[in-house]
Amino acid sequence: MSSGSRKFGLSKSKITSFEQCPKRLWLQTHRPDLAELDAGAEARFAAGHEVGDAACSLCSGGIMIEAEPDLAAALQRTQELTSASAQDPLFEATFAHDGVLVRVDIMEPDGLGGWHVAEVKSSTSRKDYHVADLATQLWVLREAGVQVSSAAIRHLNNQFFLTDEGNYHGAFVDTPSLEDAKPIALKRPKLVAEIRSVLDGEEPARDPGGHCHDPFPCEFVAYCSRDLETARYPISSLPRTGKQLAAKWAEHGIAELKDVPAGSFTNAVHARIHEAVLSGVAYHDVDGARRIVDDWTFPRTYLDFETIAFALPRWLGTKPWEQVPFQFSAHIEDCEGQITHREFLSLDGKDPRRACAEALVAQIPQDGTVIAYNAAFERACILRLAERFSDLADDLKAIAARIVDLLPVTREHWYHRDQGGSWSIKAVLPTISISGDYAMLDVSDGSAAQLAYLEAIAPATSEVRVAELAQSLRTYCAKDTYAMIEVLWHLIGAK
Ligand code: SF4
Repeated sequence: MSSGSRKFGLSKSKITSFEQCPKRLWLQTHRPDLAELDAGAEARFAAGHEVGDAACSLCSGGIMIEAEPDLAAALQRTQELTSASAQDPLFEATFAHDGVLVRVDIMEPDGLGGWHVAEVKSSTSRKDYHVADLATQLWVLREAGVQVSSAAIRHLNNQFFLTDEGNYHGAFVDTPSLEDAKPIALKRPKLVAEIRSVLDGEEPARDPGGHCHDPFPCEFVAYCSRDLETARYPISSLPRTGKQLAAKWAEHGIAELKDVPAGSFTNAVHARIHEAVLSGVAYHDVDGARRIVDDWTFPRTYLDFETIAFALPRWLGTKPWEQVPFQFSAHIEDCEGQITHREFLSLDGKDPRRACAEALVAQIPQDGTVIAYNAAFERACILRLAERFSDLADDLKAIAARIVDLLPVTREHWYHRDQGGSWSIKAVLPTISISGDYAMLDVSDGSAAQLAYLEAIAPATSEVRVAELAQSLRTYCAKDTYAMIEVLWHLIGAK
């Protein structure tokens, strides 16, 4: 180990970064100025803290060990509290070994002189990187002389429904993970030495790829992609097996669909995309689209929800990460082609489901087809509301029963090469309409809508700001449903 490497203190999150990509940890250490955090990062951190606090609140008598402002005091206090006679759970117990600092989410005494270690996660299942996190802790704990009798990933329970406000008993389950983590822990000394060696060296070479988003979105994607020559119509953009096909054609030095010889793809969708790329002419089966759409009766209601999902359920009867609709937009087209718009938006922070269900029943016509884009989502939202509100169930189920899906019709009957292998409404619209660009909107996608909702319901947000956010959300959701009209009309050659 070089003398310089010691200055790089490590932690379990840094080790996780390295395991995702050595270059990521190198950049975090040496060039943090190049990081570009995505807009949702803060909300994710806040959700993680909320889940951690809830997990701690369920361990009565627990002692929090604060690492700020005095880390040495935290280490000392941890040592005292992990003595053989310890009887209380510990939160954020702090240990260090070989320059690696770990703060253990929860340690519970087993009554026999050992400890149960729980790593708290806000997902509803255990992931591989959770076990790797745990392994780092087990290694440091072992070196600190702490006896660990069991260890688990304590994640949210997807069978849990909030029935009593603020009561999260039953919201977590432990997935035992000691045996899975042990072999990884054994390899930690070697890995830590490798990390130090990398951090002591020059910036590692690594091209961006799938690892840049798994398990976390990397904050250096813009930096790492800056000089890449990107294909205009990459083979990797082909649906489903694009990445494998890209790897196969890369062996021939080909990344561009344009450079693939005609007739090379046997899959019908791939062949259609390839042909559109080579010819520059969009694929458009007007008659095929008409044969389906002609059966969609008037009035046609184009419906889209925006939803929010909290890791810890906030409203009675909801479960972890349940999608709760707080907004919908409905454009209604009559048989004359006249369009009217209806909408619902709840930004008071209260459970929006009852008001949303009532608005659906009141505002969606009682006959005609209801059109959604990727309809399973809208249908599921409505059926959850029906399950919740028995007095509205029949009306809501009747709406759900009339839903059809515009997405597969679009996928089968339209492709423009600028869609880049996607049939999302945001990919399709710019290829058929000059009003198709979402980029100018303050809220331009579902994630931005969720962040706007969270900002609007925050107590510190001013009324003026809430009004601005409401307008942005209304504009965005209405654009989505009007976009469906434009897509449908274009598919059948109506405009
Ligand atoms: S963007 Fe990708 S290649 Fe670059 S540091 Fe992040 S994970 Fe590594």
